[in-house]
Amino acid sequence: MVEVADQDLLSAPVLARDDVVTLTSCSVVNQSAFANNNGLPIGALVDFKPPASLQLPQISRQPARCRACAAYINPYCKTSNVLGAWQCSLCGQGNVKKDFEGAVLTGFSELCEESVEYVFAAPTQSPPTAAQPHLVLVIDATLDSSMLEGMATGLIEALSSLEASTRISVITFDSVLSLHSLTSDSNFSFTMPGSKPLDLALLAAYLSGEVSGVGGVKAVFTLDIKLALPRILTLLQTIRPMEEDQPMVWRARCLGLAVEAGLRIMSASSPVRQKPATTSRYSQRLPRGSRLVLITCGPCTRGPGTLSQAALESGAAYHERVSGLGHEYKQQATAAQEYIASCVDLAKALAVPVDIILGGGLKVNAPLLSMLSRDTQGSLMLHRGFGPTFGAGLRSCFSRCFGSSAVLDCFVSDGLQLVQWLGPVNVLQSPEPEDVGLSMASDRRLSGSACSVARLQEGHGVALRMEVVRDLKAPAVLLQVVLQFIDPSIGGRLVQRVTTRRISVVSHIKEYLDSVNATATSVLLAKKAVLDAKRLGALWESTKADELRLSLRAQLALIASRCCPEVQLSKGMLGLGARKVRQWPRSLTLVAHTLYQLQRAVMLGPPTHAPSDWARVHADDRLISMNTLLYSSSIDVVRMLLPKLMCWRDGTFKELPPIDILAHHFYNKDIGRFLMLDCGVSVIVLPRISLAVPNSGESLTGMMPLSDEQLSDLKALVMLPEAGAWQAPEVRFVGQSEMREVYARLFPAGKDTISDLEGLHPGIRAVLKDEDIDQFLKVSVGQNGADLTLLQWCSAAGVMLSFQTI
Ligand SMILES: [Zn+2]
Repeated sequence: MVEVADQDLLSAPVLARDDVVTLTSCSVVNQSAFANNNGLPIGALVDFKPPASLQLPQISRQPARCRACAAYINPYCKTSNVLGAWQCSLCGQGNVKKDFEGAVLTGFSELCEESVEYVFAAPTQSPPTAAQPHLVLVIDATLDSSMLEGMATGLIEALSSLEASTRISVITFDSVLSLHSLTSDSNFSFTMPGSKPLDLALLAAYLSGEVSGVGGVKAVFTLDIKLALPRILTLLQTIRPMEEDQPMVWRARCLGLAVEAGLRIMSASSPVRQKPATTSRYSQRLPRGSRLVLITCGPCTRGPGTLSQAALESGAAYHERVSGLGHEYKQQATAAQEYIASCVDLAKALAVPVDIILGGGLKVNAPLLSMLSRDTQGSLMLHRGFGPTFGAGLRSCFSRCFGSSAVLDCFVSDGLQLVQWLGPVNVLQSPEPEDVGLSMASDRRLSGSACSVARLQEGHGVALRMEVVRDLKAPAVLLQVVLQFIDPSIGGRLVQRVTTRRISVVSHIKEYLDSVNATATSVLLAKKAVLDAKRLGALWESTKADELRLSLRAQLALIASRCCPEVQLSKGMLGLGARKVRQWPRSLTLVAHTLYQLQRAVMLGPPTHAPSDWARVHADDRLISMNTLLYSSSIDVVRMLLPKLMCWRDGTFKELPPIDILAHHFYNKDIGRFLMLDCGVSVIVLPRISLAVPNSGESLTGMMPLSDEQLSDLKALVMLPEAGAWQAPEVRFVGQSEMREVYARLFPAGKDTISDLEGLHPGIRAVLKDEDIDQFLKVSVGQNGADLTLLQWCSAAGVMLSFQTI
């Protein structure tokens, strides 16, 4: 082994990058038995962020990698510029690096910063073609008139943001399929029957112009967006809702055919046709940015891909998991699945993602739609009712993808091992070099932990979980995460983002607990609970969901029993009736809150799904929520687990999605003045006192600054009490360029006694008058007396929460 001397570099501080790879704790307890079994996971979060937002040092030389374990050189390696050598900080292997000889090592950013990006141009790949992307819109024409307007406004807003030369085609569907010609002098449409398989010959005749419109005018189905926008606007305005007397879910909708037709239009108008020498499959990759966007409010109810109403209600969409299902229903479900799989193949051959936007929500046959979006690397988004944020959401959907063919890899020090990846990752299947861009790197080695990410999207992220395999003796262990992807924006360059995080080894529990990142831990616990729920079958079996909820409480009790001191509440008489509880650490309140929220959130909480119970929390709703949580970046996971905001309107409280709060306000000035937070069955009514935003300096950073007027509007809107009078509420704004989201953190109070409330919210008496308290308690009782509040739920697990803000 090459002996490597300490270098002056070691004394220099390393620039830590917690925003690239976030550790659940920057320390770990040296005893493996405790480290692995205290209920707090050891792991990290990796959010997918485009290079521009991270601004990491860019290195164009090939990375130095350990010849034994393949790890990348990092600031924790011992290096010598005399010997031209370095020692791997993960396995201890000595390595030679000629570049170091006689060099000033502080000039190597990979030796000074935890996160760097190695960037290689693509030498062999041709520059991206000048061809313009093709966008196909497939729009459900069965929306309610109230939703149509919001959808049209948002859609036009998003389309206007695209490059003027983007080519666009529009299809609408209800009981029939309509292909729309888009020029101003050919504003007519062709229809095709919705209940039969697609007539390919007829479609080809339409597309080739063999069939023309009135007066022999030729149809133009694909046109530059700039020229097509006026026609699309009129088109959207002329959609007349059908069957409005029918429930939205059962209106006639030939969704499957519309998707197939959209893909075939793309294929027919594709300028690029190539047959790679390596594969026999005919490939027609469309220009980058091409996509099919499906906007719908319900499931496929006509033509191929349909499940009958009875089949859908019996749970046939989940046929692989639901027991006792009729043969006929199973057959229907299999046929629908096969048809959608054939559409997926079409999309894959064109390399276009199918993005699905759901405006309804319930009973959409989510397994089928999820398959269509997931397998084509698209995304599935919920925009119930197409509110004012729909346009912004769609716009970000158009621009979110920043890399393709990514490989995620992980190296750890001796003594640690990777247990699980949680998120939008797939098993790595013997990658073809050109697929993962590895041909551009001289060293193509991957560890056994590597997995692939089909398409990198901003707003998505993964979590990883580790274990300690033996008692740790070293003062620290290391975790190295490598994300490599093709960045198509600059001529298809390969980016290798290497991050090395140091985890100190400590011997005291207190030292460990002080270093736990409660937010990251909560996100990891939430992703794990959701993945466990999917694997267990909690989606469709209420008993499994019950088990999972109990296991969340057991987890709380486990953390308490291992990490928290015992407190005697009462001595009892002669040793009888003595009561002891565990005092939960203040720094981990968010973890308790997350576990509580998880067991009552839509995806796991009551009311559970049972075949007779579809109308309450539908399995589709659960599946979409679960996938969203599993794939989302950490900030979105935190947001999903926060209480909901309710708004007093028309004599009742209505749920207000956090994302819509500001939008609602700035678009609709008539919003009710009462807002309250729903904590399941327990609610907090916010008193009518204007607010000085707590910690405003801190909370408002990282967002577009609000004008004074907007800020005072917001204060009046949210109506939180004066800072200091009530500690719990905290309002934060998230978002890079637009303040689209507000989120609030509050303790559920509900049925807790007034003295508990006063403990949680010191000063509550000062802001609530007696009659307010009456009202507060009245609405707090909720509809389902069986639900527990946070305090009660923790208490049932033998845990006492500290009274403080989270
Ligand atoms: Zn090594």
